[in-house]
Amino acid sequence: MEKILNHPLIKHKISILRDVKTGTKEFRELVSEISMLITYEAIRDVKTSKIDVQTPLGIANGHMIDENKYAFIPILRAGLGMVDGVLKVLPNAKIGHIGMYRNEETFEPIPYYFKVPNNIYKRTVFLLDPMLATGGSAVSAIDQLKKLGVKKIKFLCIVAAPEGIANLKEKHPDVAIYAAVLDDHLNENAYIVPGLGDAGDRIFGTK
Ligand code: URA
Repeated sequence: MEKILNHPLIKHKISILRDVKTGTKEFRELVSEISMLITYEAIRDVKTSKIDVQTPLGIANGHMIDENKYAFIPILRAGLGMVDGVLKVLPNAKIGHIGMYRNEETFEPIPYYFKVPNNIYKRTVFLLDPMLATGGSAVSAIDQLKKLGVKKIKFLCIVAAPEGIANLKEKHPDVAIYAAVLDDHLNENAYIVPGLGDAGDRIFGTK
């Protein structure tokens, strides 16, 4: 299942995000704001437990999210830019990290770091990477999580390419994909067109 958010507010923010003239500070802020909005949508089906809340006028039926049941895992390094937005929605969220870089010739993802919250197999995992390009790192990160027994995974990105969606759906059909926007295609360097360039470089100002 893939859900493309296509919301006017998200479209507005992505238009500024894409702009080559948008600087590091604004780019970071927009990644964070868009990530907040994607998270809002991606947690729509989480279970809540009922509590009674004493208001000044009586008792209300309250509903609480148990933040312990979830883990948010950015794929390093660009996924880090999304964590701030997630934490604005769920301030107690547990955060893991999966480090992957891509071999610039084969575009294959090479894992180099893996640290996730305890009892990860009991949690729903929200995997974060702003760009779903070939889908190679997403597939590899999900392979690593499934080896630990993780059953429910959702993949959250800002820009998705049709090639990445197709790859992820083929390798992991059980993983729901949430993308803020769906772009046209990948170029010969596996960058998303029109995209926004290298998300990691734009978040961290490294180019
Ligand atoms: N990673 C990026 O940062 N941008 C792309 O377009 C593709 C992969």
